[in-house]
Amino acid sequence: MSATTAITNIASLVTNDPALGDGSPLGLIENATLIVEDGEVAWAGPAHRAPAADTAHDAGGRAALPGFVDSHSHLLFAGDRTAEFNARMSGRAYTAGGIRTTVRATREASDEALAATLAAHLREMLAQGTTTVETKSGYGLTVDDEARALRVAAAHTEEVTYLGAHIVAPEYAESDASAHDAGGADAYTALVAGEMLDACAPYARWVDVFCEEGAFGADQARAILTAGKAKGLIPRVHANQLSYGPGVQLAVELGAASADHCTHLTDADVDALAQGETVATLLPGCEFSTRAVYPDARRLLDAGATVALSTDCNPGSSFTSSVPFCIAIAVREMNMTPGEAVWSATAGGARALRRTDIGRLSPGARADLTLLDAPSHVHLAYRPGVPLVAQVWRRGVREV
Ligand SMILES: [Zn+2]
Repeated sequence: MSATTAITNIASLVTNDPALGDGSPLGLIENATLIVEDGEVAWAGPAHRAPAADTAHDAGGRAALPGFVDSHSHLLFAGDRTAEFNARMSGRAYTAGGIRTTVRATREASDEALAATLAAHLREMLAQGTTTVETKSGYGLTVDDEARALRVAAAHTEEVTYLGAHIVAPEYAESDASAHDAGGADAYTALVAGEMLDACAPYARWVDVFCEEGAFGADQARAILTAGKAKGLIPRVHANQLSYGPGVQLAVELGAASADHCTHLTDADVDALAQGETVATLLPGCEFSTRAVYPDARRLLDAGATVALSTDCNPGSSFTSSVPFCIAIAVREMNMTPGEAVWSATAGGARALRRTDIGRLSPGARADLTLLDAPSHVHLAYRPGVPLVAQVWRRGVREV
């Protein structure tokens, strides 16, 4: 038998297993002990009933919760968009190109530079309690640049998403004077669903499309996602962020794991999410950073949809790596309860990534957990902006 470690003196433990603890979705246990063996949770329950373990680690009366599962980020990028953000927040027009600025810088960056930026952001996320991160391509937009972004990503995380369909590549955009030969958005869609997919599929688990006016329409998105499925990738969709549109319905129709953003939803969209398997992933850092209206989390939750909460960390529209920050916004601005927001950032993220081994702290789960310098998970919203994450463990090993 391998050695067991008891994490003792946990003031309150979020297990996300309703069968444990107080019967709520959080499966909350007060005065808890967690026993870890071989990188997994072997036992979770009240301290007075804990079985013996080989070694003990005193949590010091802190709260413990599953490591955050950040199921939506864009970390394969280079360059800087400070000026764009500053102009937007100063009420000035900014015309220097948005995503295209990042595409240009990313294409020019070396593999080593991309990897270093990715690793730096993953460290930043880990220090804030995030133990699983999904990340996407989408700033290369050529066969070689997309494939190498995913190759770099796959060396750092198992949750890699092919987003060749982030925007129409500048060479194909009809508005671009230099796009004379390439043949427009349909030609780019064919590339994304064909040669680019072939080059990218070996490094990715997921395929994603930015389905939005000005990016990719329903037919283009369906073609790309269907081609991705045929290559064994599972769809997820950037849907209904900036306007009402077909993204959510398409996500549900194609059995996507997640429809992300969900800011502008009709009643039919909400019903489709509530009745289907597709998770609604909300990304309030984006609305915060663009002074936009937040998605209506309450409406989705009350309808019975599964809601995940993620950062959308990217250099343009949401340059935060902090899940605690997103939890605080979700509670203050989106009428989620602290418990719902914590669930969505842990178990909800796991659902959005179709994972059952993370996002919970019950027997058989990975021992990925965060200890807070606070007696309860509620403090993540109650004390916004305060660095409460005291320790982070992954697979039973303390890393922070
Ligand atoms: Zn995104």
